Amino acid sequence: MKRPMRPGALLLASLLALGGTVQADEKTEQALPTVKQIGELPPPPAHQWSDLTADLNDQRASGNGLVSAPALSKYLNTLYAQIKTAAGVADWPGAVYLSSDTTLNAHASAAGNIYLHMGLIRSADTEDEIFGVLAHEFAHIYLNHQAAYEAHQVASNATTGVKVALLGFFQKKLPGANPSWGAFDSLALVDGVVHDSLIPVWQREVEEQADMFAATLTLRERYSYPSGYKAFLERLAALEQREQGSDPFGGTTAAAAAPGTGRKTHATAREREEALTAKMLPLMPRPRPAARKAQWQAVVKEKETAELLAHFALLPEIAKLQTAGRPADALRMAQTAASGATAGDGTMLLVLQEAMKRTGASLDDQRAVLLRNRNWPERSWAAQYQAAALVTPEQQPFAKEFLQEQYAYFGETPRTWPDMVGFYFRNGDNFAQLALSLKCTTDARFRDACVYNAQTDAQRQQAANQAANRQQQMLNRWEQKLKDKLKLNQ
Ligand SMILES: [Zn+2]
Repeated sequence: MKRPMRPGALLLASLLALGGTVQADEKTEQALPTVKQIGELPPPPAHQWSDLTADLNDQRASGNGLVSAPALSKYLNTLYAQIKTAAGVADWPGAVYLSSDTTLNAHASAAGNIYLHMGLIRSADTEDEIFGVLAHEFAHIYLNHQAAYEAHQVASNATTGVKVALLGFFQKKLPGANPSWGAFDSLALVDGVVHDSLIPVWQREVEEQADMFAATLTLRERYSYPSGYKAFLERLAALEQREQGSDPFGGTTAAAAAPGTGRKTHATAREREEALTAKMLPLMPRPRPAARKAQWQAVVKEKETAELLAHFALLPEIAKLQTAGRPADALRMAQTAASGATAGDGTMLLVLQEAMKRTGASLDDQRAVLLRNRNWPERSWAAQYQAAALVTPEQQPFAKEFLQEQYAYFGETPRTWPDMVGFYFRNGDNFAQLALSLKCTTDARFRDACVYNAQTDAQRQQAANQAANRQQQMLNRWEQKLKDKLKLNQ
């Protein structure tokens, strides 16, 4: 539905237009539909699907990559098909994959793929929970949140049109702009807003939308809300409260190491659960649907799935043994972890290789272990890259050839660029390094990492000092600007 533009947004849009780009606001309104109440979904909006293969390559190069689990994947994709059908879009692309990430989390992509983290699989009690999480992730796809989210991730790459799209959606939350500012200032303001205050607001809102969407499909498919999506949010809330990060395997995660990043930008799981439950109470059917616990238990008890989960559960135990100074015991456990259903799994092989290194194994033996991942159904960039790094100087030409083969296998996905730049840099391959560094400047997500990986320690120190100075200058400039506007005297 078309609404009149608010003065602030109108002003910004016209300032942006001065900058050379004009975008229609109505387009934005169509691009981001909303769930107005639980039980009603907006009609499926038009979608621009991003490339499926590129999306998968990106995920395989992220962290330790994806996990191969045929039986579990088959089951999850049956649930995903049920969700698409319930939402009236049975023919949409995308599938469910397992991420080796051990946090209690999941994410979705603009290609229509949903990635469930191993931590989530391990902690779930019922099919209802898994269904709820899948439905929540699918909501981000259905409601086109990815398009906006990815626009944020590549914000400095994003076209002005995307920024205007974000502005259009959040026009009511934008600060006013001063008409005397030039187009350049407005663009800078847009960037600042996108990074500093728009996204937190946006995150909160899209999560609420996705929660309402998940609740709608839970009702539609007669799943249990209390044992399902509510139970998941409660689990998440308990983890948040303990402030141990969201890792049911006990490891310290990046998310846990950066407190505040999650807290500031998201409503807490507790707040989300309470808000959603209040809306759900009058809508829940009587008698309440029974939780589908037996169905889920059957799935996780299947031989290969059970072994996969058991091996992931060994990871914190191995870490404890290492911390306790028992490398030989850690090695034995790591050998078990990298066997059977996970014999070629990237995560397990990296853990095993590390345990071998600590007990003095040769580079050749360590590399041979990592290369088991090469013929595994899910190849991990991290494991392949590490294999290429574990070579003697004489083996360098082989390592380069090998890594370039891997680079091609992973579709030259941008996420591998910083690694490749670092590899070329360390091996004095100046021409290859410069060529790829240049290419890397085209992707804002990895630009800085590419620069960093092609620097000596001294250069990194110098760059850090320069960045600190620049930040101070920026701050002074904005401060001055504010003072000018407010006519304050120093
Ligand atoms: Zn979400």
